[in-house]
Parts: sequence; C-alpha cells; structure tokens
Amino acid sequence: MNSRLKVLLISPMYNSSIVAPCLGLGYLASALKKNGHDVLILDGLREKIEYNPSEWDIVGVSAMSTYFPECIEEVKKAKSYGLKTIIGGPHIICDPIQSLIDSGADYAAIGEGERTMTQLAAGLPPAQVDGLAYWNNGKVVQSKQSDSMIGETESGATTFLMKENMYTLQVGKLKRDFQLNIDDFGRPDWSSIDPRTYPVAPHGMIAHAHPIAPIITTRGCPYSCTYCSAPITAGKRMRYRDPKNVVDEIEMLVNDFGVKEIQIEDDNFTLNRKHCITICEEILKRGIKVLWSLPNGVRIDKLDKEMLLLFKKAGCVSMALGIESANQRILDMIK
Ligand code: SF4
Repeated sequence: MNSRLKVLLISPMYNSSIVAPCLGLGYLASALKKNGHDVLILDGLREKIEYNPSEWDIVGVSAMSTYFPECIEEVKKAKSYGLKTIIGGPHIICDPIQSLIDSGADYAAIGEGERTMTQLAAGLPPAQVDGLAYWNNGKVVQSKQSDSMIGETESGATTFLMKENMYTLQVGKLKRDFQLNIDDFGRPDWSSIDPRTYPVAPHGMIAHAHPIAPIITTRGCPYSCTYCSAPITAGKRMRYRDPKNVVDEIEMLVNDFGVKEIQIEDDNFTLNRKHCITICEEILKRGIKVLWSLPNGVRIDKLDKEMLLLFKKAGCVSMALGIESANQRILDMIK
C-alpha cells in the first residue's frame, strides 16, 4: 500500500438507545494519524454513512455482535466500489475466522486493532502483520504467530505468553497479542469523535448530562465469566493507564470539548482499589467539576463503603452492578 493512506473508518448505523462517541475507532484514528495517514470516522449513530469511494484507499468497519449484520452490509457496499476492507471490534475478535467468512471482508483484526491497522497501512505483507486474518488461495489464514516468548503462566483455559511490552493470550488455537503499556496508545483522536457532535441518546441511555464522553482507564479482566467476552477481547491480564494521564484526559474533555459526563467503560474499574482511588483523589485535587459514571458494570465484591463515598465526592453519579441473576441455579450454570 502507499506510504500515506486515506482510511475511512465506519461504525455502522444500527438501532440503539445507547449513543456515545465510538472510542475504539477514536483510538484507531489516533494511531493511524500518528503514522501520517488521513483518517475520517463515519459513525452511523451520528451521521448517514455516505462517502465518495474515489476518496478512500481502505475502509475499516467495526462491530459488536448486536450490529454485525449492519457491518456486513457496509463491507459489501465498500467492496462493491472496489475498496479493500478490514473488520474489527469485539464480535470480530471473538470469532475472526467466521467473521471474515460471513462478511467477505479482505482482512480481520484478531486483537487490538491499533498495531494491526498501522502495520497494514504501512504496507507490510498480510502474512507479516501482527494479529491479522486474511484470505490466501480461497482460505482464511492467520498472520505470523507471536514469537520470542520468555515465560508462561496458566490461567484457566487460557495461557499467557510474555514478551517485551506484549503478551499473548491463547484461546484454543487462536493467539491474540496485547500491548502491556496502554499509555503508549495515547488518547483517542477526540477531534474525530467530538462528543458535542453526537445527539442526545433516546430514552434508555444511562446518562445524566450532555455531552458525554466514554473513556477507558484499564484494559482487560482476569475473571472467566462464561457469558462475557471481555477476557478475550481485552485480554485476561489487567493493564492500567497512569491515573494522572486519565485525569489529564478528563480535564481536557471538560475544558476543550465541554463534556459534562464521563462514562468510564472499563470492564473491571474497581479491581485494583489503588488505581480507582488515585483517579478520584486526582479529580478532587484539581477541582474538576464533572459527573462520571460506570455504565459497563462493576463487581459488587470489589466495592466498599469508603471507596463509594470517595466516588460520590469525586462526581460519580451512577454505576451498573454485575448481579446477572437472583437465581443460584442460573449463577452456578453461568459461573
Ligand atoms: S468480571 Fe465482569 S468483565 Fe470480567 S469476565 Fe466477569 S462479567 Fe466479564
């Protein structure tokens, strides 16, 4: 591919009562722009997905399972224009091979897309791109497997294989690489997903003030709840951003984008008490006036009274609790 690509990133339009900037595409746009590429995000929850195909070199489409059919439609449309396509996001990470077959896309990102997308955009042959599934002689194959392993730890059905600034999570035959230092990702490209450009969510959205901005302060979850994709999509090893960086981002969103509510979308925000307490103390120290919430859910066994009182003082207005079921038989069944 050319040294400077024009990359169109699409989050499809789908029927949703949750409307918020697309954080995953924001991180991808940031990584691609840092490497000199031109990027535009079209988010179906914000605007119509309409574009001039002659202006783009490659189209990336993201999907959760709830809107994978809409993702397939966007892939088909882009391919009908003769454009190369790559798919990514939670649905694809969980089953990249079948997703590639179902969608007919050219490539699928098997793990976190930042490295995969920038390597592909830099012109590396698919076989040498980290974390890529692609077509080879009519068959879907996976790009090079991780090497240079220096350690191994068992954790349930999965295996960690450690190497410098990366670790590999193996589930079945598929390996996914995750970057250990998530501060290296920087911030999402907020100019592409400006919270002020998103409509107020229809009834059903857990929000208290507008504009809202989702952020993540950690990636990963070490638990193995059978119904949850988080350990596969974000990895089983907890990775933490520097709390000061997190609060710098919150402060910037409030001052530069007029954000009134921060939604922390971590899979397990309260697992490490010190991490979330430090973020709250930093918000209070800087006197930042913003509401924040935890709509993605926290574990009840990882909360305590002192923590909750500090959360409230620092602006927390709501949190989802991972109760899952009131029936012990169901709880035993879903583990
Ligand atoms: S603790 Fe929460 S995020 Fe982690 S695996 Fe269970 S449901 Fe998923």
